[in-house]
Amino acid sequence: MPGATDQTLRPFLWRAERLYPETEIVSRGHDGLTRYTYSEYSSRVKQLASALRATGVTAGDRVATLCWNHHRHFELYFAVTSMGAQLHTINPLLPTDHISHIIDDAGDRVVFVDPSLVETVTEALTATETDTITQFVVMDDSASASALDPIEDYESYLDAHESAFEWPALEETAPAGMCYTSGTTGKPKGVEYTHQMLWSHTMATQSPQGIPIDDDDVVLPVVPMFHVNAWGMPFSATAGGAKQVFPGPAPEPAELGSLIESEGVTIAAGVPTVWLGLKEYMTHTAVDLSTLERVVIGGSAAPESMIDWFDSHGVEVLHAWGMTEMAPIGTVSHAKAGLEDASAAQRRAKRAKQGLAVPGLEFRVIDDNGDEVPWDGEQFGELWVRGPWVTTEYFANESATAETFEDGWLKTGDVVTVDEDGYLEIVDRIKDVIKSGGEWISSVELENAIMGHDGVEEATVVGVGDDKWQERPIAFVVADDSASRDELTAELEASLTEQFPKWWVPDAFEFIDAVPKTATGKFAKRVLREQYDSTDQFDTSPSAKAPPEE
Ligand code: ADP
Repeated sequence: MPGATDQTLRPFLWRAERLYPETEIVSRGHDGLTRYTYSEYSSRVKQLASALRATGVTAGDRVATLCWNHHRHFELYFAVTSMGAQLHTINPLLPTDHISHIIDDAGDRVVFVDPSLVETVTEALTATETDTITQFVVMDDSASASALDPIEDYESYLDAHESAFEWPALEETAPAGMCYTSGTTGKPKGVEYTHQMLWSHTMATQSPQGIPIDDDDVVLPVVPMFHVNAWGMPFSATAGGAKQVFPGPAPEPAELGSLIESEGVTIAAGVPTVWLGLKEYMTHTAVDLSTLERVVIGGSAAPESMIDWFDSHGVEVLHAWGMTEMAPIGTVSHAKAGLEDASAAQRRAKRAKQGLAVPGLEFRVIDDNGDEVPWDGEQFGELWVRGPWVTTEYFANESATAETFEDGWLKTGDVVTVDEDGYLEIVDRIKDVIKSGGEWISSVELENAIMGHDGVEEATVVGVGDDKWQERPIAFVVADDSASRDELTAELEASLTEQFPKWWVPDAFEFIDAVPKTATGKFAKRVLREQYDSTDQFDTSPSAKAPPEE
């Protein structure tokens, strides 16, 4: 017998409103902190739903946002989805032509935009013929002059409406969210999330082996709300009845530190770059991290040195892996029962991996011949996943769908190993794997080793074309000011030679000011590879190191 209601997001809002009416939501804006309760939140969410209905938004319409992490954006999370429309969060850091493509492809009806991003939207729209948008709303209390028309400011938009709203009964197959992959290759591809996908993702991440959030937690999602719903945290924090702290537009380490201290944050989430910034900042300014219990790190591999640094501050790192296509959490690295007798070093090595499949998900690892590889921590293949919150298609894109999905499995494009205990480790992206003389080199392992070295702030390793070996690794290193480049190169060569086969050691160590990043904070390896190939500013002398003959 089916349950009386479907798996939809609205009951999470109901629970927070009724059980935790006094629990706070805090949001950083240009004029300081806004602070209110779930009770006030809920009534504004209803006002917003009434306003959207008055604008003509009905079931199935897409409502776009180009917004940072703040309370108004969070209000859209429940208002849009629970009224039956679809919340389409757009990454404003993408190139303008990608934003044009995304708005056009999705056919958005209303666009909510932060004041600082009005220009970005205006520019993106001049490059498209899109005629679906009937209303722009600027996330402020005054709409400044703008080419966007008709435009209203958010507070006036809300004020004109009552905080009474009869939520419609929704089916779990109804679309609730939408997000585009950042398109490191080709145009961004749309992924739709149904209510059931977001509901099951919330429940799975709320399990003890996910990223559980309790009612005494204080949650700080630094990961942007335009990046796969801030990894689902605003939904799971509401489900758990936790206090939520939104850090506002482009928060700097000083602002994060101050929010952690003043709000007593217990759990925060962000990509490694964010934590690297905080770590750097704390070399000269003290931040009290004593309330912080857990930090979720994902999006790119968490360097081991970062895990150690958090450990030394008494903060547990939950290393997580995921993708836009799966809403996004797939694995989380918890210490598995039975590992109590393992040495501290062994346990730490496990935790540094991307971790164990979250309950509800299945995966397999497929080699070049289409066979499953054994779980021995050595052999690798492409990771395939399936589960209730994993999509089985891209929006209106048959060719990309045919390429990426097979029999309900998502082919992730990630190359992984799985060890005897089931811990999955990402060893590369298929497109980033370095093949030298027919043998495979893991750019990720080299990067981790280099980043763990004193004097190195950040590093990435890419494969560049080589006449003899097809490809050779080159390391791009951001060193701190104190380090002598020549000495550091010699040290790195010696240290990598000790840890890896001789032919894995990069042919060159190039020092750069910063590693270029994609719009989602990942290393933009393609940019470095192209620069390297097209310039003679780097030393391209032939390699002295040889991979083994095949
Ligand atoms: P895009 O694929 O468009 O860059 P996503 O945010 O969907 O955007 O990125 C998903 C990819 O990010 C994964 O397939 C994987 O390669 C990488 N990734 C995510 N989390 C981790 C992690 N913890 N360690 C290593 N790589 C990760």
